[in-house]
Amino acid sequence: ANQNKTDIGLIGLAVMGENLALNMESKGWHVSVYNRTVPGVEEGVVERFINGRAKGKNIEGFTDIKAFVESIALPRKIMMMVRAGKPVDELMEQLFPLLSPGDILIDGGNSNYEDTNRRVKLAESKGFLFVGSGVSGGEEGALNGASIMPGGSEKAWQEVKPILQSIAAKALDGSPCCEWVGPAGSGHFVKMIHNGIEYGDMQLIAEAYWVMKNLLDLNNEEMADVFEYWNEGKLRSYLIEITSNILRHKDKAGGYLIDKILDTAGQKGTGKWSVINAMELGMPLGLIATAVFERSLSAQKDLRHLASKQFPHSHIMPVYNKVEFVKEIFSALYASKLVSYAQGFAVLQRASDTFDWQLNLASIARMWRGGCIIRSIFLNDIAAAFEAANKPEHLLLAPYFQQEIKTLIPGWKNLVAEAMKEELPVPAFSSALNYFYSLTSADLPANLVQAQRDYFGAHTFERKDELRGQFFHENWTGHG
Ligand code: NAP
Repeated sequence: ANQNKTDIGLIGLAVMGENLALNMESKGWHVSVYNRTVPGVEEGVVERFINGRAKGKNIEGFTDIKAFVESIALPRKIMMMVRAGKPVDELMEQLFPLLSPGDILIDGGNSNYEDTNRRVKLAESKGFLFVGSGVSGGEEGALNGASIMPGGSEKAWQEVKPILQSIAAKALDGSPCCEWVGPAGSGHFVKMIHNGIEYGDMQLIAEAYWVMKNLLDLNNEEMADVFEYWNEGKLRSYLIEITSNILRHKDKAGGYLIDKILDTAGQKGTGKWSVINAMELGMPLGLIATAVFERSLSAQKDLRHLASKQFPHSHIMPVYNKVEFVKEIFSALYASKLVSYAQGFAVLQRASDTFDWQLNLASIARMWRGGCIIRSIFLNDIAAAFEAANKPEHLLLAPYFQQEIKTLIPGWKNLVAEAMKEELPVPAFSSALNYFYSLTSADLPANLVQAQRDYFGAHTFERKDELRGQFFHENWTGHG
């Protein structure tokens, strides 16, 4: 190989691309970067980067895609950090005629996993390799260490592994938060579920905050203290840590900023996609669905305002033992989080079985321990549960989590019941509790649903007696 050639090329110099390029360079890699130039769109992006943050660094800038490709050593590794969707396909069409057999394209954007399924096949049909990789951690992670979830053409892994692992975050035990996920679009599927779980975690923390604020009347500093305390225990995580910081943050105009932020949450769609795909796979993902729907409902601020005038909430406002009540909130938060991860990993397992991806759930849990938004120490326990000799049927049936849930149930159900009596919404806490009660019910009223389906639609039913396994249709009305 020509010594002047670079180790890797990176396309797309927006927030993520710039920071990933700098991260790679800081790990000793020689990097080529390229960004399209479209008259009228932002021009001079490459020059600005090369003369700015990349100045004096081992980074070569190109505005010509052919020269960019030619600058990279064979087999080429080219990482695309462009807007998900059509731009990736357009870019691939431009790159194909310029590549050599065995070259590797890496899509690090938030692509839909079905697009990645298709792109892996397309690239391989032309003699190239394709890696679809989730990258989590935002700007900061891109620069200092992200959680990276690569999947696709397995032959590419040995080639891209040293670079991707070098720029990944390191877990507390020093292992990189980047391992091979599996074939086809599995890397992007895993990233999607990661984002869904992130929605769930955020909603759960928001409910804990809301209960402390409304039922215990704690002020922002007191609530920040509680989150800080929780961050020293089993809930230790990035999101709990930043919640504490957010609650203490003062507004320049005086007071606390949190109290001045409009209560309407936005969304970019990865939570929604998790739920849609869980539904396609026939799997319950109720906690994340609740989190997505609560964002949608939060956005209907005017409607909520109107409805609140018609249905003012009544509060009995008992005097609570604050210390005991905070423990119940902890129980609800921790148990609901367990349910959410159990649901998310069950969807991953179902996807793995359905698409024959052979996903390693323990490895996925470990990849999420650093760099990404849902990083937490709790993921160590999840990895351990999936690694056990007797792999559990369901995360909540792992011996450790069974024990945890048993100690959490009393506080969890009291908290949900109390919030309902006080007319305070805790949709994710209660969704999790209902899922838990359904999951642990050997019998459910689905016999009636099935009877109704058979009554009006002749959809048939099975019997629970010794005839189980055959399907029956009943003449419910006695008419011919
Ligand atoms: P972005 O705003 O999603 O994408 C902008 C980049 O895409 C620019 O370089 C833009 O070039 C390029 N682009 C758009 N259309 C193109 C086309 N048709 N052909 C070639 N290039 C095109 O940037 P980002 O926030 O850095 O994100 C990049 C990817 O990472 C996205 O898929 C995003 O979802 C994902 N991601 C983002 C974050 C985050 O925190 N921002 C975190 C994880 C993953 P121009 O400058 O010429 O417009």
